[in-house]
Amino acid sequence: MFNRPVTALKYVGPRKASCLNKLGILTVGDLLWHFPRRYEDRRQLKELAAAAAGEIITVQVTIRAWEERELRPNLRLFRALIQDRQGTGYALWFNQPYIKRQLRAGSEVILTGKVNYRGYIPELQVNDYEAIGQGDKGLHTGRIVPFYPLTTGISQRWLRLVVYRTLEEMEGGIPELLPPSLCQRYRLLNRYQALKYIHFPPDPGALHQARRRLKYEELLIWELALTLSRWQREAAVRGIAHTPDNELVHRFLAALPFNLTGAQERVLAEILADMEEPRPMARLLQGDVGSGKTVVAAAAMVKSIAGGWQAALMAPTEVLAEQHGQTLQKILAPLEVPVAILTGSTPRPEREAILAGLDTGAVPLVVGTHALIQENVSFKALGLVVIDEQHRFGVGQRAALQAKGQAPDLLVMTATPIPRTLALAVYGDLDVSLLDELPPGRQPVSTHILTEKQRSKAYRLIRREIENGHQAYVICPLIEESDSIAAEAAMAMAKKLQEEIFPQYTVGLVHGRLKAAEKEEVMKAFREGKIAILVATTVVEVGVDVPNATVILIEGAERLGLAQLHQLRGRVGRGAAASYCLLITNSSEAARERLAVLASSQDGFAIAEADLRLRGPGEFFGTRQHGLPEFRLASLPGDGRILEQARQDARMICREKLWQQPEYRDLYLAAREKMSCLQL
Ligand code: ADP
Ligand code: MG
Repeated sequence: MFNRPVTALKYVGPRKASCLNKLGILTVGDLLWHFPRRYEDRRQLKELAAAAAGEIITVQVTIRAWEERELRPNLRLFRALIQDRQGTGYALWFNQPYIKRQLRAGSEVILTGKVNYRGYIPELQVNDYEAIGQGDKGLHTGRIVPFYPLTTGISQRWLRLVVYRTLEEMEGGIPELLPPSLCQRYRLLNRYQALKYIHFPPDPGALHQARRRLKYEELLIWELALTLSRWQREAAVRGIAHTPDNELVHRFLAALPFNLTGAQERVLAEILADMEEPRPMARLLQGDVGSGKTVVAAAAMVKSIAGGWQAALMAPTEVLAEQHGQTLQKILAPLEVPVAILTGSTPRPEREAILAGLDTGAVPLVVGTHALIQENVSFKALGLVVIDEQHRFGVGQRAALQAKGQAPDLLVMTATPIPRTLALAVYGDLDVSLLDELPPGRQPVSTHILTEKQRSKAYRLIRREIENGHQAYVICPLIEESDSIAAEAAMAMAKKLQEEIFPQYTVGLVHGRLKAAEKEEVMKAFREGKIAILVATTVVEVGVDVPNATVILIEGAERLGLAQLHQLRGRVGRGAAASYCLLITNSSEAARERLAVLASSQDGFAIAEADLRLRGPGEFFGTRQHGLPEFRLASLPGDGRILEQARQDARMICREKLWQQPEYRDLYLAAREKMSCLQL
């Protein structure tokens, strides 16, 4: 029945069906899963005499008489004298000639509307009405009334009635999808009841229970689809069981100029153990800016190499690839492990040498950009793939690099802290390791919100820091989705700073329109301290590591999300010296309030939660390829608890092969269908 087209319903003809199609409603199931957008509680009947002006009330009255008047061309008023036990008043309709026939004088009706007073007489501007005892079901008034998303040709009243009748007709015909054990454990309404209550709740408690049940169902199917697909992938391939011998890893760690933090040790242990398992690792390493993900990834790559496998790290930009490459070259030097760097601008002879080395296995470790997934790149034995700033890549790109080996282990890293609940949804098929501790000695970055008028204060601070041998960033963020406009703003800013404000210091400039080699040249000069002030668009947002920089000034800060600002702020405070983040904004109270969150917290996860709350998931991720699934009912992070529960249950169902049991069959089929929809 669910899968029958809506035209199978008595009350839906081809015209209405095509209107419903516009709402995405093709089948009877779609109709029942077209949930109300909001509800109005019209249960409380009020006396006309007690109505306050401006109030929206529901009354039960008798229609006494009708009158009709043309107020102006095209505006016809239909006014009914109405009466309840206590008093009288008027009810108003406009341009609805049929109303007089529907609600004849003498009939008893329930009305909902807004009250105005004409002298002492209350006048009800009617939103909804219902005749009592004329076959109306009490759907539109006198109850908690659903309001649906509509389209032209579909009215609230009609849709309510069709949904109601369909539910009535389907009673007993909607099979349970969840196994009884889960329903009992969570005390869930059965499926029919939940559907009935979500459309026509008898009270708010029932609505809550209905929503809880349907959200759980939705999230469980989603998680089960993810888990099954991963489980299937793993059953199909044999991964690499990396050597349990960590001798080389320990030598690597011993040669570092610092000790790992507790969090780094814990996370590294998780990763090393996972690598030893024969199933392919699929793990997300999340850590706040500056929490030291690179070293952890390096240690994992060392483990791969120790067993004779190659490792590859892919970064989203050339600047970042270069930087990672140089860092790794430095920290791997004591082990005499050569590190190759492959980007779009690697010169031809060098590129050919690297490609040959990867193919023969002579090059054990490579860092690069998208250049790594070009067709001409082949590895002898790729054992570990590391992806930095994972959210900058599509799933396809990640898979393309993995496909260069035989089921290599995968470690993806992100410094955009994602609230745990979202991480579960977006990266549902990954295990998560969390670096929740910063290396010791870091001082919080002192963060200030400045207006345009206080700009000179900012410049004074920059001057002082440079005098003390430090460096500064000035960020001109993207104004529109256009590199060239941002580039122009940055160029103008660089010119002004160089010529008018800081003629005695060197001002450098990077923006998205420079060629990769030019960018790298500027970054190199900045790293080497030859540039005192680096003006940049948001290209430095991710990963750039110049510990000597102690100030970052961000123009038009209100235009950026908190998570992104936190990323930018993470460019400073990377050394031992006190650091500053100056946010210039001349904007509204609301924007300043949002920025104040940043000024008062250094915790990327707390900031991300706040950002998500303030801007919603779409904005939070930016609109492009955020990977956040669209749920009909569930919303994140609000329903995170239910999501976590669903995830645990999905894993349990897979682990214990419960899906083979008959009571899990329908759920299993629903998850399979989801997998094929999502092409998992
Ligand atoms: P992110 O997590 O932002 O990628 P990085 O890996 O770039 O962080 O590390 C930030 C800085 O902290 C680097 O300069 C790195 O050398 C340093 N670092 C990493 N781990 C430690 C540690 N345990 N003790 C001291 N410094 C560390
Ligand atoms: Mg990093």
